[in-house]
Amino acid sequence: MDTLLFNENNYDQLIQAADMIKNGEVVGMPTETVYGLAANACNPDAVAKIFKAKGRPSDNPLIVHLSSFSDAAHYTSYIPELAYKIADKFCPGPITMIFPKNDKIPLITSGGLDTVGIRIPSHKTARKLIELSGCPIAAPSANTSGYPSPTEASHVMLDMNGKIPAVIDGGKCSCGVESTVISFDNDNTVRILRPGFVTREDLLTLNCNVIVDNAILNEIAEDEKVSSPGMKYTHYSPDAKVSLVEGSFDDFAEFARNNKNQDTYFLIFDNDSLDINCNFLTYGNNSTEQAHNIFACLRKLDELGAKKVFVRVPDKNGIGLAVYNRLIRAAGFEVIKI
Ligand code: AMP
Ligand code: MG
Repeated sequence: MDTLLFNENNYDQLIQAADMIKNGEVVGMPTETVYGLAANACNPDAVAKIFKAKGRPSDNPLIVHLSSFSDAAHYTSYIPELAYKIADKFCPGPITMIFPKNDKIPLITSGGLDTVGIRIPSHKTARKLIELSGCPIAAPSANTSGYPSPTEASHVMLDMNGKIPAVIDGGKCSCGVESTVISFDNDNTVRILRPGFVTREDLLTLNCNVIVDNAILNEIAEDEKVSSPGMKYTHYSPDAKVSLVEGSFDDFAEFARNNKNQDTYFLIFDNDSLDINCNFLTYGNNSTEQAHNIFACLRKLDELGAKKVFVRVPDKNGIGLAVYNRLIRAAGFEVIKI
């Protein structure tokens, strides 16, 4: 089967996509973070198709997308007061909160855990699709497991053509990195399990304690217990071998001079100018731009036939933490300090 490419502005096609979801199928859906693979979160057979299409390990849970935070109580057994404050400020938007689940969410959706991640997307098409489908929507990123997340419909088509019936084209994703994932250590303490557009600094404005989980920046040992199963898997990696290079731009330029090669690319900031003859791509000048561009750049490097990529490290503050977290994982934690 060829995968149909729908347009988000074609209402008949949105209805068709919602009907596919009602019938237990999987549809590629645009959101403000990255494209997702959407299916009925309460239908175990439909959810199994998501895992199969992505090749996703069965213990890596799926985030459940709702159109309003007031629906979260239908699928969870406890929501702390702090979560309502966070929802008031940041939902709909790029944040996922983890709560104890109830029986309406099957174990296949939660990767066998007794908790569920809930997100309220702000993207108009994602919201419309949830409403038209009439069910909570499980949606992981719409890439083949381990490969960079898709931020354009064409990326989803590349990874999923022939594996799912349709993809809705909603243009480029505005954030470009996945949602911030948080859990609650206690009623006044959140733990960031995956950094995103809602930053540590944003959460601190609510006068709660904010812990940044150790696994965000550090490689975890094989036998170590993780708070979020996704932390233990290879992620975001193009076929090219990626390394981060940390140091001043002058040192980076010197490093590039010494390491340039036919199959080697340098991923630098827009304002950087490497005055040597080498292959390079740029990924923006500030954290917001870099988040928006990073996954498309990693995919582009494979398209260009890069075998080795050296990336100039981004700023690690604010939204930059999300960019750094994706890059360090794409690099298998290889950082060259110069
Ligand atoms: P993706 O679906 O590709 O956006 O990845 C979702 C991320 O959220 C994964 O890293 C999961 O491990 C994490 N996640 C989803 N649900 C839970 C949960 N119930 N507990 C902990 N982490 C979760
Ligand atoms: Mg993913």
